[in-house]
Amino acid sequence: MANSPDSAKVTPLRPRRPCPECGKPSSRADYPFCSPRCKDVDLNRWLSGSYAIPVTEADENLDEDEQ
Ligand SMILES: [Zn+2]
Repeated sequence: MANSPDSAKVTPLRPRRPCPECGKPSSRADYPFCSPRCKDVDLNRWLSGSYAIPVTEADENLDEDEQ
C-alpha cells in the first residue's frame, strides 16, 4: 500500500504553455517561448509596427488661435 491515489491529484507548479509563436512546448530558458528564435519573432512583430502608437502632431497651432 505504498501507492496512494492522491498522488494523481497533485497540481503542477506551473502549467506548461505552448509557445505563442509555433505552439511547441515552451522551454524553460525562453519561457514562454520554445526557443530564442520564436522570442525574436515576437519581438520583431512588436517593433515592426503592429503595435504602433498613434502620434498626434497636428495640434501645433492650437495655442495662438484663442477664440
Ligand atoms: Zn516556438
